[in-house]
Amino acid sequence: EAACRHYPAQAIVDLVALRDNMRHLVQVSHEASDAEVMGVVKGDAYGHGLIPTALAALAGGATWLGTAQSREALMLRRAGIGPERCRVLTWMYNGTKAPFEELIENDIDIAVGSIDGIEALAQAARRLGRAARVHVKVDSGFGRNGFTPEGFGPALKRLVELSSQGVLEIVGQWSHLAVADAPDIPQFVDVTEGQIAQFNTFTAMMREAGIAPKIRHLANTAATLSRPEIHFELTRPGIGLYGYEPDPAMGTPSRYHLRPAMTLQAQLGTVKKVEAGHGISYGRTYVTAHETSTAIVPIGYADGIHRSASGFDTPSARHTDKLGGPVRVMTAQGPRIMHVSGRVCMDQFVLDLQGDAESMGVREGDTVELFGPGRGEEFLEPTADDWARAAETISYEIFTCLRTRIPRLYL
Ligand code: PLP
Repeated sequence: EAACRHYPAQAIVDLVALRDNMRHLVQVSHEASDAEVMGVVKGDAYGHGLIPTALAALAGGATWLGTAQSREALMLRRAGIGPERCRVLTWMYNGTKAPFEELIENDIDIAVGSIDGIEALAQAARRLGRAARVHVKVDSGFGRNGFTPEGFGPALKRLVELSSQGVLEIVGQWSHLAVADAPDIPQFVDVTEGQIAQFNTFTAMMREAGIAPKIRHLANTAATLSRPEIHFELTRPGIGLYGYEPDPAMGTPSRYHLRPAMTLQAQLGTVKKVEAGHGISYGRTYVTAHETSTAIVPIGYADGIHRSASGFDTPSARHTDKLGGPVRVMTAQGPRIMHVSGRVCMDQFVLDLQGDAESMGVREGDTVELFGPGRGEEFLEPTADDWARAAETISYEIFTCLRTRIPRLYL
């Protein structure tokens, strides 16, 4: 009630869904390969809120948490998620300027993928007099971070030296997959096979040098669900924890026993009648076809709603007809899907209700839903995948973009 008074839109995060999704991913990993599972909670847990999500992931059986930024890894520890509860891995930092000492002191595992990174981490470990736990990042074909085969020889030599001196403890070897979310596309299967082969070559090089990484990890959500042969000792699902499949082409979340955890809703602003031929929003990209009612949804691109999810019905040289992002509106006749009509503005967008609001029973203050778990026909509920389609992006970006003007409420 208070949230509605101050904020005209809310993201409701279902902790039970997060826990159950993790439970399922843990079950899949255990059944297929006995691998442990890392809940990936980077990016403020994909916009779901770092600490509540981390706790729900642990309740679901994750024994590891993974963050990109070191700040997020430290926040987990500061919030009381100690080393006795789970291991934490962090993999992205500001070159050699990471707070390595603080990370080591907080029992956080650290990824390295460059010689400079190795040296900076070793210096910090020496200063502290305590070995740093290292996961060696290899570039098996993603083309982002990690050692390439060419640079791996000298790095290995240094890793062997530093581990024999007790400065670094090499515990893991890992990499990231580029196209695992498209298992049905033959040329992509080859890309993933190539990455797996390259990953194994790196392992062989490490073993030959006398380093046997105990924990190898490569599988994101897609590979956790579809490629048990590469679970190795640890899987690293992110999007599955939040209840989504990585690519809608793989099928709906329910096909994978996943349930979207976030519901985004808003309370309607002004509801009014307009004539036929009335231009809506900036650029007059939408013009009402008939006498109708419109309603304001008080959430816009300053909240993280993509402007690319605007809806156009007046093709021009600059744009073609396009359905805007969906919104579920409860009418006297039951739920109906309306679409963003015209351009998304900074703080709001407009819905053409395609009828008379009064006879539809739609009033200012009514709660509408932009996306939710996607419950079927009776509920007619859009998901973040539907918004992703309208905005030409992926579900990941739909919820990570939601700003702090949208309070997260936990159920
Ligand atoms: N591992 C790394 C290194 C990542 O960057 C990510 C996310 O992009 C993941 C795992 C999880 O991927 P997904 O959310 O597709 O499961």
